Amino acid sequence: MKFLDTKLRYLKMFKEPEDTIAPDGRVWVCLACGKYTKDKFGSDMGWDVSCVLNSVLCNVDELVYENGRVSKIESTTDVKEKGG
Ligand SMILES: [Zn+2]
Repeated sequence: MKFLDTKLRYLKMFKEPEDTIAPDGRVWVCLACGKYTKDKFGSDMGWDVSCVLNSVLCNVDELVYENGRVSKIESTTDVKEKGG
């Protein structure tokens, strides 16, 4: 995992550290595999480079979990449209 670690550090150079830590109530979610992390460049749960590239910042209340991963993102704006 040494190569991966170097690459993550390389990616990190392009962003301010404050931008990579999810604020309270939000997490980074990888749309490819459903893993999530507080630190966009963190290595929790096997978070890797592809997760970094596929991640989006989501509200924790909008996430639906399955087997410890995010299986669905409930968009509050979608819910509003369906409710009519
Ligand atoms: Zn991933």
